[in-house]
Parts: sequence; structure tokens; C-alpha cells
Amino acid sequence: MNDTISGLTSAALRGATQPADAHFITIKRGPGGPPAALKHPQAPLSKITKTHCLLTLALLMAITAPRRADAQFIWIDVSYKAIVDPATGQPAAYVTPHLPQEAVRFGNAMLARYRRGYRLRLVEYFWIGGSDHPRDPSRWYPFLVGPNHELLEEEFRSDAFTNYPALYGWNPSALNVFLTVFPEGTGKSAFCAECDSGRLSDYIADGRECNASTQFTAEENFGARNLHETAHYFYLKHTHGSTACITNTSGLCLAPVPGDDDLTDTLGDVQNVGDCTCWTVENLSWTNFNKGYGALNATERELVDNVWFNLMSYHETFGYSRLTEQQLDLWTDIANSFRRHVLSGVTLYVSLEGNDGYSGLTSTTPKRHVAAALDAAAPGGGDIVLLRPGNYDERVTLTRPATLRATRAGPASLGRP
Ligand SMILES: [Zn+2]
Repeated sequence: MNDTISGLTSAALRGATQPADAHFITIKRGPGGPPAALKHPQAPLSKITKTHCLLTLALLMAITAPRRADAQFIWIDVSYKAIVDPATGQPAAYVTPHLPQEAVRFGNAMLARYRRGYRLRLVEYFWIGGSDHPRDPSRWYPFLVGPNHELLEEEFRSDAFTNYPALYGWNPSALNVFLTVFPEGTGKSAFCAECDSGRLSDYIADGRECNASTQFTAEENFGARNLHETAHYFYLKHTHGSTACITNTSGLCLAPVPGDDDLTDTLGDVQNVGDCTCWTVENLSWTNFNKGYGALNATERELVDNVWFNLMSYHETFGYSRLTEQQLDLWTDIANSFRRHVLSGVTLYVSLEGNDGYSGLTSTTPKRHVAAALDAAAPGGGDIVLLRPGNYDERVTLTRPATLRATRAGPASLGRP
């Protein structure tokens, strides 16, 4: 699912059926003449793009025939390493060169649905381990996690990051993913988003082979899991918090009071554990709205679906296809700050409630004007200006390549209302 406007014709724009969740940025004629954006030869309209939102260009296209180009994405660089089995000198059987490629491809299909302009970029894939070094990476094959996993994760990190980055192929400007094996029943896909030690995890270790499902191939399921872990890397929590179904002394499966992720636009949720599958979409509906899923109105159903199909939920359908605005804001805030070193650019927020004295770099400190955000964008391009819903009655001169996007929360327009 591509979220750019590239390839759209004016006819397509006129005739397009607006997706249910789409909003438009409308560029209108500014006071006293055509929009200034058109006057700058270095800023073809094709650079004005938006996320899931189509750019309504019909009026402008009547004035000029702009060249088109792809939207700018913010790249999340990912470095994959396969730890080799010390006995064979080969990685786990499920780890093929195809695997990281598929993980990135599938992850990007999902990221396109979230419509913030993020994309994964596979920067490298290679094998590590198999040497005589006392801290050789193959000592982590298999990765014996378990009750002491926090300690082991710290130990791994001191090997891979602090002491022997070259031996482990640690890439300081990428998200590091290490592929190994976990013994059955002991594994975790990723290390804590927020470790007990207080250190924020900055890598992913993956050690379980995925199976194909009715929806996805094994490689796609692997990609989905990697994307889920990547969301943890951007500090997102599970929609259920740490709350799981419990079995009472009679063996009855009970759903406890739902847990949460500290965000207000995701409903309380419960994780099913093993055979204790007492939490269904009906539980989610009844607990939050006191009625069944079939009786929900459109707004309520959207809230339920946002959790049931959420990347950060644990439901069997594993839609992977949704993140809410607050989840995306958190992702963006962290991408703009703690994880900036693995990204190709930043997102600058603009809101009618903003202030041009703000940095624009966090969801709570948006710029007020699009022009101010563009001034703060990288001169060489690569940044995204994200418009909160509303009309921005201003003339904008694009002096640098930047991508304008609207959020899924509502339409944004630029120019005279
Ligand atoms: Zn998780």
C-alpha cells in the first residue's frame, strides 16, 4: 500500500473514491495570485505530498503542469546480523538472505498504512561469529534467555555495543537486529523497550522461526514481529500493558480488568495466554461499551478495531495494520529525539494551537505556521511537515524540498479557507 501521490493523474484525483480514513490537503490560490509555491523552480508541486492523504491539485494543475516525484520518506535504517551456530558455522536454518528483505518489504507495507512517511531501509545483512574470540557472538547461539533475561540482555549489550562492536557488527547509525535461536519456551523476540536497569533497549534479538498463517507467509509473519519489536524501539507499549487472561482454581479462564498502554486513544485490552483465550473482540466491546460488537456504532467500532488490529496488541488475527494517532505521535516524538541517529530525517509538527517559537519536534510543541516548519526543515530535504487538522491560511514559499502530510485525525488545507 503506497501512500504517496506519485502516479496519480488529475483524472484519478477527480474520480478517486476517498478511502474511509483519508483526508485531503487542499492547496488553494493564495491572496493576490497563484500560490507562491508554484513560483519556485526548485520546488515542484510533486514535492508537496502527504501521507495517506491525497493532495488535491486539480486547481493548480489547471494553472501549471507540475512535475511529479515520489514523496520523501523518513528512512529507518536497519542492520541485520545472523549469528552462526558454532558447530556448523551457519546461521539457523530459517535465516536466509531472503528473510530480512521480506521483513523490510512487509514492514513497509504496514508502515504505509500508518501514513506517517516512515519506511524501513535494509542497510546490511551479514553473518557474525564462529571465531575463537572469548566473547565471540556464537556464544549467543542459542540465546539462553529465561528468568535472568535482563542480566543476559545487559551482558549481550556490553559485548555487542560497549566492548566489541566490530566483532558484533554493531552499526551505530542503524537499528541492530541479531538473528539467533532461542530454545523452545525460553525465547523473547525483542529486548525490553524499557529495561529494569532503566536503560532503553537499542537492539532487537530474534530467535524464533515463524510459521505461515492463513493471512501471511512465514517471512511475512517474521516481518510483522520485527515491526512490532521496532515499535517497542520507539517506546510503544502493548495495548494490554502487562495484563493477561488468568485461569482460576476451577480451571476457568477469566478476563481481568483490562490493562493499558498509558495512551488515551487505545481501549483497555487483555492478552490471551496459551489456552486461556478468554478475551475476544466481544469482550473488548462489552467491557468498553457494554454492548456486543455488532451493536457498536461506527465510532465505537473504530475504537475496538484500533485495538483488535493493532500492531501492539496480541490478538490472534494480528492485523498489524493499525496504530492510533497517539501511538504514532509517540513513535514520532521518539524518532525525533532518542532514535534520531537511525533516521534520515525528522517530522515537524504544525498545529493551529502551535507556536512558531516551539521546536516543532514533539507532538506537544508544534509550530503554528507551515512556513515556520518549512524554515526549520533540513535545507537539503528529507524532512516531513505534519499538519494537524485545520486550515492554514498562509502563503508558503517552498525554498527546499519537504513533504507535507496531514494526519489521520482529519483534513488539513493550505491557503485561503
Ligand atoms: Zn511486544
